[in-house]
Amino acid sequence: MKKLFLFFIIFLIGCVSIPRKPYISLLPSYQELKKFCQENKLDYSFNTLDDIIYLKTKGKDIRLLLDSSIVFFNGCFFSLKNAPFYEEGKIYIPLDLKKIISKKLPSLKLEDFSTKTVVIDPGHGGKDPGAISPWGLREKDINLKVAKLLKKELEKKGFLVYLTRDKDKFLSLKERVKFAKEKEADLFISIHANFNRNRYIRGVEIYYLSPYFSQKLKPFYLAKKERNNYSLKFWKNLCYRNNSISKEFANCLVEIFKEMGFKVTSKRAKFYVLKYGYVPAILVEIGYLSNYYEERLLRSARYQRQVARAISLAVSLLNDQYEKLAQK
Ligand SMILES: [Zn+2]
Repeated sequence: MKKLFLFFIIFLIGCVSIPRKPYISLLPSYQELKKFCQENKLDYSFNTLDDIIYLKTKGKDIRLLLDSSIVFFNGCFFSLKNAPFYEEGKIYIPLDLKKIISKKLPSLKLEDFSTKTVVIDPGHGGKDPGAISPWGLREKDINLKVAKLLKKELEKKGFLVYLTRDKDKFLSLKERVKFAKEKEADLFISIHANFNRNRYIRGVEIYYLSPYFSQKLKPFYLAKKERNNYSLKFWKNLCYRNNSISKEFANCLVEIFKEMGFKVTSKRAKFYVLKYGYVPAILVEIGYLSNYYEERLLRSARYQRQVARAISLAVSLLNDQYEKLAQK
């Protein structure tokens, strides 16, 4: 009898179906592309080859990239809070685009937007060896080797590249960030190698700044630090931009590493070099010195070249994407 009762209860629960809404409708900051264009009297087209969404009307030429918060509007770059995305055959547009179209937010304009100047930061150095593998390999040496290879790769592609250190020299985190600011870097890439007590853990890890920290706390910090030389709004926009480009860069790099057969993950973090830079920044942990297999790889020139190539490919892909957006 008890069993029958239990069966009846389970049957009842099974009958109560919870209505499921697609999660997209739960995002108030988005609107479906067709609807957005109808409401704003825009014509649209979508280029599936390079993921560019064109929105046009008299006197307005708007171009968006799928999964990117960078917008090209009437010859200038702007930054959105969210990125347009594709889901089940439909494209969704972030609603803050309206503010840009109606020119209510001119401060979101990105002056001289580019990703051509890159600062590479080989972690540790001098008195700070970083992690040391059980077999004696020092992190600071590997970081520098890969950073130099990456510099070469990027220079071949026409980027202007600076290294925070090009020899075995100690640099404080503050000095590294200051260097990036002085060089007016468009991208800051910090290179590190990982270590864990658990020797089985391995893989590449890519870190970008946590959006919460970037959007809620960093503008206040920067405004205070710079003695309010610019408005808080200016810093907020700068942080939005840096955060979205860092994230796009991290995503792009994950895809490339995956395609090249690497075990890779991306994570949000609050590392100093990500937090206090004024530019889009990522930190790449290129492998585990504590893992026997990966330590061997980190020693090999071939692996170092592969890592440098993957990162340089991500930089040039990101740059190409933004350049395509601005093409006539
Ligand atoms: Zn490190």
